[in-house]
Amino acid sequence: MSSTPIIGHFINGRHADGGSRSQNVYNPATGIAEKRVALADKASVEAAIAAAQAAFPAWRNTQPARRAQVMNKLKQLLEANADKLCQLITAEHGKVLSDALGELQRGIENVEFASYAPELLKGEHSKNVGPAIDSWSEFQPLGVVAGITPFNFPAMVPLWMWPIAVACGNTFVLKPSERDPSASLLIAELALEAGLPPGVLNVVNGDKEAVDTLLTDARVQAVSFVGSTPIAQYIYQTGTAQGKRVQALGGAKNHAVVMPDADIANAVTALIGAAFGSCGERCMAIPLVVAVGDATADAVVASLKAEIAKIKVGPGIDAGIDMGPLITREHCDKVRGYVEQGIREGATLVVDGRETKVAGDGYFLGACLFDHVKPGMKIYQEEIFGPVLGVVRVASLQEAMDLIDAHEYGNGTCIFTRDGEAARYFTDNIQVGMVGVNVPLPVPVAYHSFGGWKRSLFGDLSAYGPDGVRFYTKRKTITQRWPSAGVREGAVFSFPSHR
Ligand code: NAD
Repeated sequence: MSSTPIIGHFINGRHADGGSRSQNVYNPATGIAEKRVALADKASVEAAIAAAQAAFPAWRNTQPARRAQVMNKLKQLLEANADKLCQLITAEHGKVLSDALGELQRGIENVEFASYAPELLKGEHSKNVGPAIDSWSEFQPLGVVAGITPFNFPAMVPLWMWPIAVACGNTFVLKPSERDPSASLLIAELALEAGLPPGVLNVVNGDKEAVDTLLTDARVQAVSFVGSTPIAQYIYQTGTAQGKRVQALGGAKNHAVVMPDADIANAVTALIGAAFGSCGERCMAIPLVVAVGDATADAVVASLKAEIAKIKVGPGIDAGIDMGPLITREHCDKVRGYVEQGIREGATLVVDGRETKVAGDGYFLGACLFDHVKPGMKIYQEEIFGPVLGVVRVASLQEAMDLIDAHEYGNGTCIFTRDGEAARYFTDNIQVGMVGVNVPLPVPVAYHSFGGWKRSLFGDLSAYGPDGVRFYTKRKTITQRWPSAGVREGAVFSFPSHR
């Protein structure tokens, strides 16, 4: 094991070791531990925080237009290094190369948004709010902020966070997932090459010890988190108890409603990609179809079964593959366990992906389809995060919406219909943060913001876009008057008003 390369950290513009512990990083397509990653101890994380703290005063005072230039350059470098980044993502995460490129492009869109920082930070101004008094609000950076990210989007989710944070004048400590850490390190190198001063972006790899240091260190002003709901809740509670600003995005169980008037063929093609793309390991994946009426359900199930038969499962690095492996052996076993659970609970297993065989020791599971899934079942309630799609049968749109509203998660949902009135009623009333109409993955573009409702998001502000700017800045409102020299004024004891 000693010859296995160890992935370290990136602190103050340099690669750094740190921490006596490390763990394997596997290639999920082969099951081979090709690398190891260092798990930062408290001292290493504190060194990253100190570097960010030291870089803050100068970066805060750097012109926003200069910060924007760095973002523009970074965008070019990310595009130029896209192949290399996608290879890294696929080797550690397992997703197919085209999917890795898709996530990278979405990440690059956030870098592009961050390059509008001068426009975004312009503030608000009011003249003559009182006699010869002017007032304005400006948006000041917070200081050192931290980001903690999940395995499933190793490029995109970190790029949701730090580009907009640093474009607003903050400095950053990123703690990526220890399961696929390499993309963040390469991107940090590219950011340095783009002109980001050392210490403005630091990357520490690690686990709970690193996260807890970020949550409890008084120098960290705010924490952005994306991951599973139990950890999101822990991050939110711990961080806010320490007086930090926290946004913590959690898990999901997204329902797609198929109405009787939907174009079934197109809806099913959309559902296949949304359910099985990235092997179902997306927080906006569709693991549940709610079919309105038995005739709709019968048609959807038959068509899904036919389409699933065409899915090519194999290593994400190979051409022509649609679905790669799951992230780890443990997770693959867990998802297989849900398939057994669904059978025990009485759902009908229409397609059994456990029969799909791929040579080698990769963590593969073929697409699975259940019919007659019921709300009381675990496979309905819990986030499986794998290639398991369940069909629930209901009698009406209202019944479908009541189910969705009763679910603990409220990340994404969508409706397939040609009925504008039904679509409008759905989008207006459903208790979910991101809603699609004939769009299965309604992931907001970079100039909107991303966030679920209910137990899919802890905190008040969504990720990236306009909410990202608000999250990473604090408003200061200044009221200013220059009295004429020599004019004496008496004391005023009434509360100042505009009258
Ligand atoms: P995870 O919660 O296991 O890990 C996320 C991060 O938290 C990692 O950096 C990890 O090191 C850290 N972490 C894990 N356990 C911890 C602990 N006990 N204490 C402190 N830190 C800890 O999530 P994951 O498995 O990497 O990612 C999958 C999950 O992320 C799914 O639930 C998915 O829905 C969710 N997700 C949500 C969104 C969203 O926008 N809502 C986006 C992507 C992923």
